[in-house]
Amino acid sequence: MNASIVWLRRDLRLADHAALAAACARGGPVVLVYIHAPDEEAPWEPGAATRWWLHHSLAALDGELRRRGSRLLIRRGPSLAALEALVAETGAEAVYWHRVYEPALRERDTAIKTVLRGRGLVAESFPGELLAEPWTVATGAGEPYRVFSPYWRKMWPTVDVLEPLAAPSRIDSPELPSVALDELGLLPTIRWDSGFGPVWQPGEAGAHAALARYQQHAAGNYSEDRNRPDLPGTSRLSPHLHFGEITPRQIVHALLAGQGPQARVRHEHFLRELGWRDFGYHLLYHYPHTPQDPLNANFASFPWAEPDPALLEAWQRGRTGIPIVDAGMRELWETGWMHNRVRMIVASFLTKNLRYHWLHGARWFWDTLVDADLANNTQGWQWSAGSGADAAPYFRIFAPVAQGERFDPAGDYVRRFVPELAKLPPNRIHQPWSLGGVRGYPAPIVDLKASREAALSAYAQMRGEAAAG
Ligand SMILES: Cc1cc2nc3c(=O)[nH]c(=O)nc-3n(C[C@H](O)[C@H](O)[C@H](O)COP(=O)(O)OP(=O)(O)OC[C@H]3O[C@@H](n4cnc5c(N)ncnc54)[C@H](O)[C@@H]3O)c2cc1C
Repeated sequence: MNASIVWLRRDLRLADHAALAAACARGGPVVLVYIHAPDEEAPWEPGAATRWWLHHSLAALDGELRRRGSRLLIRRGPSLAALEALVAETGAEAVYWHRVYEPALRERDTAIKTVLRGRGLVAESFPGELLAEPWTVATGAGEPYRVFSPYWRKMWPTVDVLEPLAAPSRIDSPELPSVALDELGLLPTIRWDSGFGPVWQPGEAGAHAALARYQQHAAGNYSEDRNRPDLPGTSRLSPHLHFGEITPRQIVHALLAGQGPQARVRHEHFLRELGWRDFGYHLLYHYPHTPQDPLNANFASFPWAEPDPALLEAWQRGRTGIPIVDAGMRELWETGWMHNRVRMIVASFLTKNLRYHWLHGARWFWDTLVDADLANNTQGWQWSAGSGADAAPYFRIFAPVAQGERFDPAGDYVRRFVPELAKLPPNRIHQPWSLGGVRGYPAPIVDLKASREAALSAYAQMRGEAAAG
């Protein structure tokens, strides 16, 4: 029956979907399958918060498909075996998918493509999740970039504002057995996720609603407000982008199409941030060791401190005694997301004031962020720790009190997530110890000044060793 299979992974949408468009264009039935194979992502199997998102995103996608006369098929991995079974069941002659860039998955996909083609099938992967494919941007010497600004100057002019592909209005799919979504066990058994539902709407409709909200309420002030965790100043599109519920092209098109050249200037800051997302993928593609090893090899000998489990837990659960750090870590726990400015502050606190290896932070974020993304979590942590591309130098240690006073001036963000401090005035809320402490709220777990100096001497030691070696 000349069926085509569309293998869905992190492209959980129907619009601007080149693989689906290609399958529909072939004619014949189209089978849309999600194959559950978390072990193929080892050692970075999806964490608890992204599993929550995935469950709801798959449910939303199935709803959209049913409205179009189709449905989402769910199968269990291994991926190759599941695809082969589907080919046998349907007589499909083509398998299409959108690219992913994580090293383990790229390897898997290349092997699967070779096997399927070896059997005479059409097996084709499509771009679409990034502004530019990682291998298409190179320095004059043909090398990958390690600094963002020149990367962006080279990459951005190559991005065109093409009309995104429309979603098909009807999809003809055969009836086939499917694993029930609930059987995947993606939702937590202990319900820690009660704070997620009110904040997020996973799925394609939720992604477009978030974009519309951003355009209406935040885009005009993005440059000023993007660093303010107390204001709704950013788009919160990151989990939607991670799961491919919306594409960067759809976002760029929505902001720029028909708006004239001034729109590029007006949205420059936001577009650069989307560029940072791509830069993370560029780095992951060219430096696939970086999810576990430093990009800057000097950091292999950095004298990280052995974590004290109680202090690590205090950081994880927002009980460090430093209000802006605790607000961020509690925002993460309660909502599965944290504002970018605060991510930088909590990461600096972990890697510099506590001097714990950035992987302790990256792993916690991996489990708790709804937008946990190997390229961007790695980039964010390596940047914060000083070991990554274009990194904040290790000696730049965020002063959390000054950061709090500058970016949460009235203390509203801290008040929202650290209710013990709700009654403190703005000039005290970021340093409750100046009032002799607050009942029920811990004293700081480290001395900010002494730990800063200890971090600087550790850095000097590493530099000394690098120079000698
Ligand atoms: C330690 C650390 C860990 C991080 N881990 C992740 C992660 O796992 N997944 C993830 O998507 N982002 C991560 N980031 C980047 C950033 O914090 C989030 O992308 C951003 O907070 C998302 O919020 P938003 O959608 O409102 O962003 P907006 O400000 O509205 O920006 C629009 C889009 O641009 C991209 N973007 C914005 N800022 C950055 C940035 N600094 N780096 C890369 N892309 C960016 C995101 O895709 C975002 O959705 C991390 C940053 C740090 C410092």
